[in-house]
Amino acid sequence: MRKPRVVILGAGYGGMMTTTRLQKTLGTNEVDITLVNKHDYHYQTTWLHENSAGTIHHDQTRIPIKDVVDFNKVNFVQDTVVSIDPDNKKVQLEDGELEYDYLVVGLGFETATFGIKGIEEHAFTIQNINSARLIRDHIEYNFARYNNEPEDRPELITIAVGGAGFTGIEFVGEMANRVPELCKEYDVDPDKVRIINVEAGPSALAGFDSELVDYAVKRLEAKGVEFMLSTMIKEVTPEGILVERDGEQELIKTNNFVWAAGVRGSTIVEKSGFEVNRGRVPVRPDLRAPNYDDVIIVGDCALIMNEETERPYPPTAQIAIQMSYVASDNIKALVRGSNELKHFKPEILGTVASIGEGDAIGVIFGKRKLFGWTASVMKKVIDNRYLLKLGGVGLLLKKGKFNIFK
Ligand code: FAD
Repeated sequence: MRKPRVVILGAGYGGMMTTTRLQKTLGTNEVDITLVNKHDYHYQTTWLHENSAGTIHHDQTRIPIKDVVDFNKVNFVQDTVVSIDPDNKKVQLEDGELEYDYLVVGLGFETATFGIKGIEEHAFTIQNINSARLIRDHIEYNFARYNNEPEDRPELITIAVGGAGFTGIEFVGEMANRVPELCKEYDVDPDKVRIINVEAGPSALAGFDSELVDYAVKRLEAKGVEFMLSTMIKEVTPEGILVERDGEQELIKTNNFVWAAGVRGSTIVEKSGFEVNRGRVPVRPDLRAPNYDDVIIVGDCALIMNEETERPYPPTAQIAIQMSYVASDNIKALVRGSNELKHFKPEILGTVASIGEGDAIGVIFGKRKLFGWTASVMKKVIDNRYLLKLGGVGLLLKKGKFNIFK
């Protein structure tokens, strides 16, 4: 009898953890597992703001898939998913086609532009290793250019960031650390550099406790970050960003605009005919897609509602990892012919946002607030815990963050 074929799309948090758990719990005699990913490495998406600012090298963030996945048990295909045909149980890749009996979709997020003109053409986005490397090199190149221009061009050393949510704040925090290094390296007067954070809402870090938000904003302002709150970005142009506040429009000239204000699930899922809400699939309690009993969706492609707030849970690595536990258990049950599937219930252990090296804010265990160094250590503990879970002590020692005294 043919073994059931399990195909996992995307080696992000959700896909990688599902794969490593399945390789441990299912035997090669009972299942054929295939993992498909664009690159031959997995990366820690939650560290990309550091790679983009240049405060850590991307080699610390990426992990070769072969170091974690056992290729004797899992067939790894390095390719790009083009579409899914859930009615015929097929996946179209750039260089081929795969058939499956059970599918796990973990293709992650894409940038949401909210229809703002010029974002696609002129903004940088923090999405993956390639886009992070580009931001780092572009900003550094502009610092190098600054003293070589015949006229003063402040836009070269003006860094503007759209969005004061988690990603935007974490990125400006890293930039505030990186700018003094760049100034020293390229003989640029630090007083001339601007880091501007533009946010449409009235506050940074919407949804966070106000005491923590005040702390973060004050710390970042002290490091030179300028906040423009209640300010809409109307258009992004090659010259800069056109913003509007209190009915007044202003063009902020910048050659370094990073859009960090919105994500949605991979558009492949929507284009493949799955039902979506805000770009994400409203999965059933067992994480299966509506109408498809053989497709499980994990991570940022899945939408789950918080019944207390009646709003969707924000997409996070924490939830993607927790989903992988249920996804792998449910795949195991399906492969073994059982229909007793587990239900997913997120357990939010805490949320910690870094605001530069050695500084952070966060809430753990529901209500305990953390500030500064303690929060920063907690953030590193969270990061290191993931590495331990994914690849054991060896991976932790290779890629972990141990600089807790900085
Ligand atoms: P991802 O981790 O995004 O992985 C998707 C994978 O699919 C990637 O390997 C990608 O290469 C692959 N892929 C995509 N498209 C294709 C294709 N067509 N073909 C083949 N492969 C493909 N969350 C937290 O919980 N805590 C944090 O502190 C935090 N900080 C963040 C900081 C930043 C800068 C960002 C950007 C996000 C942060 N998040 C954080 C959110 C978190 O990173 C995401 O929720 C999480 O990465 C989602 O995991 P995932 O498995 O769905 O997808």
